[in-house]
Amino acid sequence: MSILSNSQIQVQVVKVPPTPKQKQRKTLTFSSSSSQTQITYQNVDASIRGQVLGPANTLADIHKVFDDAKVEAGLPTNTLVIGGTHGDEMPGIRVVEKLLTNPTPRCSPVYVELGNKTAIAMNKRFTDKDMNRISKSDAQSSSTLDEKRAKELYEKYEYSPSRMVVDLHTTTSNAGVMLIAIEDSGFKHNINLAKHINACLNIEVNVFSPKIPEGTEPKNLMPNMSNKHLAVELGPVMHGQDDAVAANTMMDIVNIVTEYVDSGVLIGQDTPIPTYVPKGVIELPEGYEVAPDFMGTDYKELSHDTVVLTNGTKTIAAKDCVPEALQEKLMLGQLHPVFIGEAAYKNETPRKACILCVKEDS
Ligand SMILES: [Zn+2]
Repeated sequence: MSILSNSQIQVQVVKVPPTPKQKQRKTLTFSSSSSQTQITYQNVDASIRGQVLGPANTLADIHKVFDDAKVEAGLPTNTLVIGGTHGDEMPGIRVVEKLLTNPTPRCSPVYVELGNKTAIAMNKRFTDKDMNRISKSDAQSSSTLDEKRAKELYEKYEYSPSRMVVDLHTTTSNAGVMLIAIEDSGFKHNINLAKHINACLNIEVNVFSPKIPEGTEPKNLMPNMSNKHLAVELGPVMHGQDDAVAANTMMDIVNIVTEYVDSGVLIGQDTPIPTYVPKGVIELPEGYEVAPDFMGTDYKELSHDTVVLTNGTKTIAAKDCVPEALQEKLMLGQLHPVFIGEAAYKNETPRKACILCVKEDS
């Protein structure tokens, strides 16, 4: 259907003069002279500046040329929101349920999925195998319900760099608002989006940034679907329980991301964001628990004499349980524990008390 009468319009990339506050940002605007349609993009590749992207004579045409320009500029054109990848992390499930019944209108498509449906029905993290540890090849066997569901999702959402994937999680640890940016080819984009969320949210945001071991297939869902992805990890939230505050924060983040996918605009790029890169773990021996005073001290610099573990009668200090390879960093005060006391880690092999990170600014 033509919405612009009979006249075709030319869609062209034009440069917008930066305001003083935006001095460092290369802001470009896609605009057309004969309609009100205007979308502003930031950091658009210089190669498409001034290029005529039209012609377009329907709204769909305009979306198409904008989408093509977004793809060319390395920006996403659609969003996939997943909640319940872990079936007992309620806030993400609530957000997805809300988006399914009452979607927010957006220009660009927003796909919404309940993750591990069987586990959600059972209010369990997973049935047999953690769905966020199933690679594409592992999923092929479909020998467990979790693998079967992972396979379904991988088939439905084949890898596309134009997709922005948001995976909603909670942790029992004192994570606050953590964004997980797995280091892959989309890392720079994903960190820029994390900075944008940080600037929009007005709550302190930290980034956790694990690497995919070289030459291995990613075992997390997101990097198998796109290189543009962020996991949202909010805590402390008890597994299996609702948390309205966490759900609201998650919904805010989802809205910030889907608005960004519509507009391509990112702010807050000049403010570094604290980024925690995992280097090892403190294991939790059988019979031991995380020491009460250590609980909740996520992100803080770990001191060598901090009591980390206790079995009720005996205690173990950091210097006696941090792995040998990280002792030097411990002594230099360069280790920062995260996911301290995460309940799900007690059922993993080996059991973990926390993950040890070094802190970088991205
Ligand atoms: Zn989770």
